[in-house]
Amino acid sequence: MSEKYIGIDIGGTSARIAEFESLESDKIERRQDFKISGRYEEDLKRLIDSIKKLVGDDKAAGIGLGVAGEHAPDRSRLLHSAHLKDWGEKPIRDDLVSEFDCPVELLNDAEAAAWAEAAFGGHEEDFWFLTWGTGLGGSIVEQRPGGPHVVASEPGHHVICWEESGPLCNCGRRGCFESYVGGAYLERHYGKPPAELSDEEWNEVTDWFARGLYNLVRIYPVGEAVLGGGVTDKQSRHLPEIERKTNEHLKNVGTVKVSKASHGEDAGVVGALASLRQD
Ligand SMILES: [Zn+2]
Repeated sequence: MSEKYIGIDIGGTSARIAEFESLESDKIERRQDFKISGRYEEDLKRLIDSIKKLVGDDKAAGIGLGVAGEHAPDRSRLLHSAHLKDWGEKPIRDDLVSEFDCPVELLNDAEAAAWAEAAFGGHEEDFWFLTWGTGLGGSIVEQRPGGPHVVASEPGHHVICWEESGPLCNCGRRGCFESYVGGAYLERHYGKPPAELSDEEWNEVTDWFARGLYNLVRIYPVGEAVLGGGVTDKQSRHLPEIERKTNEHLKNVGTVKVSKASHGEDAGVVGALASLRQD
């Protein structure tokens, strides 16, 4: 019998579960995916069955679980989630601990993606990690003596336009960074998906992105911003333009490199694994 590590990524509609040999490798040994019902008891049972199937006769040595939503400060449960309403206040961490008798780390999906990059992206300096998908999430990754550390942040909800004309954000405020660049907002604003925007429209989007990123780098000065998420995956050709425009704003005070995250769609499971390295 050997020890296996499990990384789990739960989105609004699906769960990805991956098995790893150790905390030091991002190589996925085996995986299982299933549709999430949103009903806690049912999803928990499928989660437990899937982990057991992956682990087989071996022992789970640690489970990292990334779930979109707002988490309790003690990281034992979700407080609420837009997609998984029935999961709110349910003791997901302790339910998995009592089933598998191993450490379980609960974190949100944006933190998990940052952990994947922090642990396996080959970075030596601090950086901003931004998840550019339907919205804009992100964290600061600090290189500390004991290893990288992910500082949760809300860069998507820093306001870049305080005028009444600023677009309405899902958080209720107007003019948030996210409301100018998030995939869902682009679709609302331009009336078509990001893939169909014209060069001129993309020019506006990268203008706004560079303004937001300029602020982030002035507040937390780092030399690199790493971008992940669904919009980044499909639209990475715009990253050099975002870098160029941000550096134009930054002239005389520094430069920032804008790069694409290393793990694509697997960032959630790899990051959930990496989060088990804490403590
Ligand atoms: Zn907002």
